[in-house]
Amino acid sequence: MPEIANWMAQVAKDHPDVVTIMDYGQTYEKKTISLLKIGLNTGKKKKAIWMDCGIHAREWIAPAFCQYFVWQILEEYKSAPKMQEMLKNMDIYVTPVLNIDGYVYSWRDNSTRLWRKNRSPGPSGCNCTGVDLNRNFNANWGSIGVSSNCSSDIYCGTQPASEPETHAVTYFVGTRKEDFLCFLTIHSYSQLLLVPYGNPNFTASNYDELMKVGLAAAAVIKSVHGMNYTVGTSPDVLYANSGSSRDWARLQGIPLAYTFELRDKGKFGFQLPEDQIKPTCEEAYAGALFIVTYAHDKTFSGAVCSDPCC
Ligand SMILES: [Zn+2]
Repeated sequence: MPEIANWMAQVAKDHPDVVTIMDYGQTYEKKTISLLKIGLNTGKKKKAIWMDCGIHAREWIAPAFCQYFVWQILEEYKSAPKMQEMLKNMDIYVTPVLNIDGYVYSWRDNSTRLWRKNRSPGPSGCNCTGVDLNRNFNANWGSIGVSSNCSSDIYCGTQPASEPETHAVTYFVGTRKEDFLCFLTIHSYSQLLLVPYGNPNFTASNYDELMKVGLAAAAVIKSVHGMNYTVGTSPDVLYANSGSSRDWARLQGIPLAYTFELRDKGKFGFQLPEDQIKPTCEEAYAGALFIVTYAHDKTFSGAVCSDPCC
């Protein structure tokens, strides 16, 4: 975590024209939650893209991916007119590690390596720790695929957004929700692109679009290293759940909300070998960029039109 924090400071220092660090909350253990805002200051109101990594502590490939994503965006920005145009029209907000307390705990030793939740204490009188932050958002909270037992790995907390980490995202995104075109939350593992909603009783109004864009992104991912990613709602391709940040984002009106479940499909699981970090990031970057570009072009199509009649 200190390395990632230092890296964030260095990126902002090296790219003052395009990168800003923003602090937007605190964890239970009072660690500052920060994001990198990537975009050009045009003086105009801009649209926005959200990406968070590391909401689940043990999914170590996710924070690695957020760093790769930022690095690659900045590389493309140097020479690609398309990226320069996108950073004029949109700000990309990237949180490399959302669940900092849990992430640090998962690095402590082998006995904590597979920790998932945050590190807040359970209800008084209970000897348990941690809430599953991806069951704690105000989206059909507590309805399905959760536990009310605080020792469970999918404990949803005492009420929606009871946790400071959930509150930080809810406040930051919720107060700018009309700006956000896209909300991407990065997990591992299973090689999936999940669309809203986790509760099978609800269907997103733009389900067809979410699936079309998701399937196209999966095809782009496959073209990089041949890996298969499955696209669908949680209940269709994984399991039903409630209180996820993706579902919350969609309920806020953010049209393109996706959960990425990165490599692998279970051979190594959360303990993905080092030699798979780079290829995993390369293919997921291509998929994420596809979705971000789609979101951009749908809103700013006039800006990229080469037809003399438009
Ligand atoms: Zn996860």
